Amino acid sequence: MPKTRLLVISMLSALLAACGGNKSATAPEADAQKAAAVTAKVTQSRLNNADKEPGQWMTYGGTYNEQRFSGLKQITADNIKELGLAWFADFDTNRGQESTPLMVDGVIYVSQAWSKVNAYDAKTGAVLWQYDPKVSGEFGARGCCDVVNRGVAVWNGKVYVGVYDGRLVALDAATGKEVWSTLTTDQSKFYTITGAPRVANGKVFIGNGGAEYIYRGYVSAYDAETGKQVWRFYTLPGNPADGFENKAMEMAAKTWTGKWWEKGGGGSTWDAITYDPKTNLLLMGVGNGAPWNSKARSPDGGDNLFTVSIVAVDADTGEYKWHYQEIPSEEWDYDAVQQITVADIPINGTTRHVAMQATKSGYYYMVDATTGQLLVANNFVPVNWTSGYDLATGRPVINDAARYTKAEGPRIAQPGPVGAHSWHSMAFSPNTGLLYIPARESSIAYTVMPNGSPGNFNLNVNFTGGDKAYDEPGNKIPRGGDTKILAWDPVQGKAAWSVVTAGSAVGMQVTASNVLFSGNGAKREMQAFKADTGEQIWSYPVQAGIAAGSMSYEIDGEQYLAQVVGGGGPGGYYAPTYARLLVFKLGGKAQLPPNAEYTQAPFAPPAQTATADEVAKGGTIYGGACAICHGDGGASRGMFPDLRRSPLLVSQQAFDQVVLGGIRKDKGMTSFEGKLTAEETALVRAYMVDRAIAAKNAPAFAPPGQ
Ligand code: CA
Repeated sequence: MPKTRLLVISMLSALLAACGGNKSATAPEADAQKAAAVTAKVTQSRLNNADKEPGQWMTYGGTYNEQRFSGLKQITADNIKELGLAWFADFDTNRGQESTPLMVDGVIYVSQAWSKVNAYDAKTGAVLWQYDPKVSGEFGARGCCDVVNRGVAVWNGKVYVGVYDGRLVALDAATGKEVWSTLTTDQSKFYTITGAPRVANGKVFIGNGGAEYIYRGYVSAYDAETGKQVWRFYTLPGNPADGFENKAMEMAAKTWTGKWWEKGGGGSTWDAITYDPKTNLLLMGVGNGAPWNSKARSPDGGDNLFTVSIVAVDADTGEYKWHYQEIPSEEWDYDAVQQITVADIPINGTTRHVAMQATKSGYYYMVDATTGQLLVANNFVPVNWTSGYDLATGRPVINDAARYTKAEGPRIAQPGPVGAHSWHSMAFSPNTGLLYIPARESSIAYTVMPNGSPGNFNLNVNFTGGDKAYDEPGNKIPRGGDTKILAWDPVQGKAAWSVVTAGSAVGMQVTASNVLFSGNGAKREMQAFKADTGEQIWSYPVQAGIAAGSMSYEIDGEQYLAQVVGGGGPGGYYAPTYARLLVFKLGGKAQLPPNAEYTQAPFAPPAQTATADEVAKGGTIYGGACAICHGDGGASRGMFPDLRRSPLLVSQQAFDQVVLGGIRKDKGMTSFEGKLTAEETALVRAYMVDRAIAAKNAPAFAPPGQ
């Protein structure tokens, strides 16, 4: 199978954990007395001074500045060998888990896949309530990267969750019952929400994703009490004929050409939103243009504002204040949506109020948080798309050799779209002065698709032909690379130390007692390091995929450490996988149950009745419609069913019940009725039977245990 195709699939599923749909869950009755005591009285004053309450974790990044720095000091390098599991809680879905829990006044609020939210007694792990927004399974196919959710917000007795299908929901923190629900997106388009809301001054801020489809990005603010929209800031202009929403859109429109609005334009806001109380600015990270191919979206050039930018708006009004565009006319999916961390850092003897971001592009950026002026730009992994930044103009010197829109054939760009750093949380320690970055080395070969775009996506790029590019004499760029924990000097723009890990990147948390918590995705381990030196001091086998950032809290004088894990289990979709909240403390004695035994289903294809030509046609259809989830040749990497092993291959009728009949839409397998004809699904099945026979006859080449 073409390695490039695998790369594409691994890139799109790299952030994911394994998938198994929704298991049936019985919501336990909440302890009424306990629930009644829950208040979650988070106020502006408490959030502004969150660093003074290190025992709480009241907002996604720990404090407004998104440093993920815990002021707790009980767990140290000297006693960490005593750190054990205090309690754990199983989630009822084993799809990807990316969330960081909040802990307010003794209660943990944590989101999970399908935008579900659970509340637990933070000391005992007793379930207080569970909330399921009941996202229609069909929405599962509308995002690039699974039905994940990264976190909730808490404010004045309510818990806020952005729901995958575009809703923003406020829950009563005491009961988990809906207080209000508002639709923030046009559900006829492929908008999804996976990021955590933020709250400030009575407003809830939420963005959305979808710049791999027909999409125009924005961030909205809603009244925290009523759910009424207060403002919306679009990240790029729409059709000028419809008028501009504000002066910023008029300015931005001058940087676009052609009819970009017909293809959406992109500019997704799927992760970073940072409220900075010092400036009352809301900093939003803005993603790639859509289509990725810059000539397809803006044929006569232009910077395409505000794609791939940090944009600052007045948090009260949504009025544009400044922007810093990291990559004008970007075309590699180097989203600038990654975590924006604000800090006061001494630079040349002066303390500067700065915002820092390490993005998919492989570059670390530090800008003045009040003006957006670029202060530092250095690469933290090998890159080939630029030779560096001109700090005076803030613009990169782009290496045309990586610009596939200037080429006939494939061009390798490094990093690839999976990114050097994606949503996985960074941490900043004011004690060490270091920024901890979960980094990955990668590359991919891009080829312009002049006529349309592959599958359901709006990229105008494909990833075939990569073998040719990598095998070209003189090519020195490797296909992959290391996953690393980087301790980054934010002023010098270079690593102070680094540790090579493997597999998925894992989010960071750093504590006042010089402990850095992260992990190793391939080893399925949570790990701890000395924050100043990188010396590893602890590990714990979590039995599951691990990618999310951890957090700390304190109850009755004890420091707890909470980490969400899930998915990624060996054996893939059909195997038991574990999605859990793990909570540790010194002297914790709880034990995880042993891993369940599992044997992968055998390849058992029916006899092939199709011709070689039909199989080839089926492969082409499969590549466009199915491969994005089910992997190259059906060999899913664990996230979705390995179709070569599917019992549905036995008959066309069984196959079509799912593919056209949609009987598994509640699990995220949308119906392809209207998208594929019965003739086409027959060709796809013929192709899959061919792949299954090939796998059966050459088991040595089947991915072991996947
Ligand atoms: Ca993107």
